[in-house]
Amino acid sequence: MSRAPLSSLTRVYLVGSGPGDPGMITLQAVQCLAEADVVLYDYLVNPQVLDYAPLAAEKICLGRHGHSRIWTQDEINRRIVELATAGKTVVRLKGGDPTVFAHAADESEVLASEGIPFQVIPGITAAMAAGSCVGVPLTHRRLASAVAFVTGCEAPAKGDSMLDYDGLARFPGTLVFYMGVTTAADWSASLVAAGKPAETPAVIVRRVSCPDQLVIRCCLGEVAGKLTAEKKIRPPAIVIVGEVAGLEENIAWFQQRPLFGKTVLVTRALSQSRELVEQCVQRGARVLVQPVIEISPLEETGELDAMLRQLDQFDWPVFSSRNGVHHFLDRLLQTGQDLRALGDLKLAAVGPGTSQALSDYHLQTDLQPATYRAEAMAEALQPEAAGGKRFLLARASRGREVLAEMLRDAGGEVQQVVVYRSTDVTEVDPAVEQELEAGSVDWITVTSSAIARSLVSLLGDKLRKADLVSISPLTSATLEELGHSQAAEAETYTIPGLVKAISN
Ligand code: SAH
Repeated sequence: MSRAPLSSLTRVYLVGSGPGDPGMITLQAVQCLAEADVVLYDYLVNPQVLDYAPLAAEKICLGRHGHSRIWTQDEINRRIVELATAGKTVVRLKGGDPTVFAHAADESEVLASEGIPFQVIPGITAAMAAGSCVGVPLTHRRLASAVAFVTGCEAPAKGDSMLDYDGLARFPGTLVFYMGVTTAADWSASLVAAGKPAETPAVIVRRVSCPDQLVIRCCLGEVAGKLTAEKKIRPPAIVIVGEVAGLEENIAWFQQRPLFGKTVLVTRALSQSRELVEQCVQRGARVLVQPVIEISPLEETGELDAMLRQLDQFDWPVFSSRNGVHHFLDRLLQTGQDLRALGDLKLAAVGPGTSQALSDYHLQTDLQPATYRAEAMAEALQPEAAGGKRFLLARASRGREVLAEMLRDAGGEVQQVVVYRSTDVTEVDPAVEQELEAGSVDWITVTSSAIARSLVSLLGDKLRKADLVSISPLTSATLEELGHSQAAEAETYTIPGLVKAISN
């Protein structure tokens, strides 16, 4: 990947983080964050992008309206200079683009006058994201040949406003108002008084690109009425005024995604939740994460190591989970062997996720049952078992015995080896608990029986305001036993299957 080089002399980066969706940050911004000793960020910044900075970097929020004290521009300037002079690499992270209504000039003037090298890294400004996420193109071949970004917080009555409303009313294109929520009555009336027709189409967009994006279509004359204190539409919002705002919503894919407006609570172990989180996010969901089990390597590996030294005693290693594969093979490699230790053993995997884990190690699965559960695996292996073949079942520190029993009954020789630990989480994030109590969680994912048990013991009746989605009939049966029935069940017992079950 080629990028413009960042200067090695640079001490301070003024960086845009984009409009809110963490995927809309630039590669350069990510690179700067990775170099940061200190990140000074605005409340508009999505805190998820702070993860691109080193764990050890100091992350300072510059305040949030109604929550904490807001730093003054002078304080910010002074702090940046202090840090940079002390040799720190500073990222000043702003929402959207750092040069659009974001005091970049104040900061860069101070840096220039102090002789501190700095660089500006652009970001996608809120208005620019509307084209993609709302389906409102800012320019249009027939409707708008120009676009203006306008501040809504210079009220005409203030006297010191530099805005020329007569000019704006005549402007031949799209007007996008930033910071115009509380002042909507002023600026919209001024525009109309200056001759802009009150019927001009308008669209109000709050939290553009975020999972809770809100879009209100109206006309200029109605904007103030939609943004009154009672309506509780709080910043950040932009208002797009112009003919483009009246275009049909034929490119409004963003809010048409199947999980848009839904909140999904993911309960898998942290180490394996990524795929599920990403698939929900891609479909538009707001995702909360509360792992209810923890997967970890064994503390005592003697037995596993012994098995790994005598793999030639077996015909079939059998894997029932992705974790099984990873912990088994990682340990094999850690103990100084390599994949040749598997020789001509045949490999069985319970489902596509487990097979994928094998292929991560360049191994092909020899057998995968048609339905992804232990009983189906035992049936598929039955002819092998009947021939007296030797099976090594790689399993968790807890789990079902059914596979071992069925293979033995069929005539197979079976050994089991514990390859990883699965333990229950005992504490819940209070924020998650609160959301459950408030009824703001739509779906809770339940991806195994162990998760079902831990979830119910952790949260019990607090689960009742949300719907449960289960990965398989077996998991659903466990939920039923615990007195909680699932509202949806995956047709294929995989993560994509589970996501599909809630996407209809
Ligand atoms: N530098 C930022 C703008 C900062 S001024 C940018 O380029 O986007 C703050 C204003 O930006 C807010 O009052 C609001 O009008 C707008 N804004 C920022 N993020 C927004 C978002 N996600 N959705 C809607 N408006 C947003």
